[in-house]
Amino acid sequence: MAEHLPMAQFAANADRALADLGQRRNLRAATDTFAARRSAVLAGNPDWEAWRTTARAVKDHVLAHLDHYLVEFERQATARGTVVHWAADADAAVRILLDLARQHARGVAVKAKSMTTEEVRLNEAFAAAGIDAVETDLGEWLQQLADEVPSHIVVPAIHKNRDDVAKLCHERLGTPRDADPATLTAVARERLRAQFAAAGLGISGANFAIAATGSLLLLENEGNIRLTTSVPDVHVALVGIEKLLPRVQDLDVFLRLLPRSGTGQALTTYQSLLTGPKQHPEAEGPRELHVVLLDNGRARMLGAEVTRQALACIRCGACLNACPVYQQVGGHAYGSVYPGPIGAVVTPQLVPLTRAAALPFASTLCGACREVCPLRIDIPGLLLHLRAEVREGHPGVPPAHSPRGKRWAMQLAAFGLRHPRLYRTALRWARLLQRVASPLLRRLPPLRSWAQGRAAPELAPRDFRSLWQQRSRR
Ligand code: SF4
Repeated sequence: MAEHLPMAQFAANADRALADLGQRRNLRAATDTFAARRSAVLAGNPDWEAWRTTARAVKDHVLAHLDHYLVEFERQATARGTVVHWAADADAAVRILLDLARQHARGVAVKAKSMTTEEVRLNEAFAAAGIDAVETDLGEWLQQLADEVPSHIVVPAIHKNRDDVAKLCHERLGTPRDADPATLTAVARERLRAQFAAAGLGISGANFAIAATGSLLLLENEGNIRLTTSVPDVHVALVGIEKLLPRVQDLDVFLRLLPRSGTGQALTTYQSLLTGPKQHPEAEGPRELHVVLLDNGRARMLGAEVTRQALACIRCGACLNACPVYQQVGGHAYGSVYPGPIGAVVTPQLVPLTRAAALPFASTLCGACREVCPLRIDIPGLLLHLRAEVREGHPGVPPAHSPRGKRWAMQLAAFGLRHPRLYRTALRWARLLQRVASPLLRRLPPLRSWAQGRAAPELAPRDFRSLWQQRSRR
């Protein structure tokens, strides 16, 4: 069964990830590709900032009136034949989904990629109950094959390259060791078609839920969501309460923002709008449609103005792709379902802060996440807020520990910055030392663990101050 790493041990997890140079190369290549595609699709787009403003205003409005929109969604969905359930926490959600699976799944449930089902650990509960929960998104299917949890909220197997995938399929399925991606995709398709035919229950999340019509919108590129929602007789969607939008028209701006931010696409290949179960004479759709509205800590986030904005997240993944920490350590190091910058914000609010106290510190606060976020969520600000909660000894949270060496280094740096002459002298010596003694210093115990997997940037031959003075003298 796929296990999460302990999130309290982020530093140890990160050290292990940094030692895996192959994974770092894969992460860097993939995140750079997504970032480049995003830049290309946004280049010269005069409407981008206006779309961001509109989307944030819609989200702020919904979150301020969430009680109203949730009740409206339930009323409209019920009127169109959908059965709406409410789950206060992960256990309640799992109970509802297990109950439906026992009634309808016939031993097999097919799943479309859904972070909310990961959040409630649905696969573990189904396995314990003897029900096969089969992932049908290609990346998620590979992660299930590898017995790993997703390492990215949009691209679950982002840390694997084609050779890793060929090796995995060879070991688990007996495909040729050098099989190409097209062959492996055909193998996956054949196996998944059999599971779609056998399954009595389809399970998904939703990108958005529309209050005015009781509809769900699901975005994808592979077609597996459409099969998951239309082949099995019964479908259930597990939806976080923050996914509400007031009207179908509001989708307009979100359908522009989400794919551009996440994968650099102008539009995802498929958009499925589910409004109630199949009606005569419709050919597609489930005979029975259930929606489980999940709270699991979201109402608590809604209650505090500072944390409420994190509920505006549309899970596009852009902040993960832009984050220099995520790019190096990958998603598994965070030990949580939601990795990266938004994961470091959301996770400490979904689980007790005692278990996630390390995550708000897993950031350089460079601001790249805020820059790319289509909803302009102030992730660095939220991380600082959570850091303060940890430092101030939030009830039940042990005070954060910073290693003695790091504290000394910070005190030394602060002293040097307060004394410019000393700072300049130290810089001259540091330049000399870097040339002569750097290889030796990297092997000494206080620096050895830091130096593993990191390269210290070369000091410039001349500092800015002396260049400026020389320029002013001209
Ligand atoms: S915080 Fe912003 S950038 Fe990150 S996943 Fe959410 S919407 Fe996307």
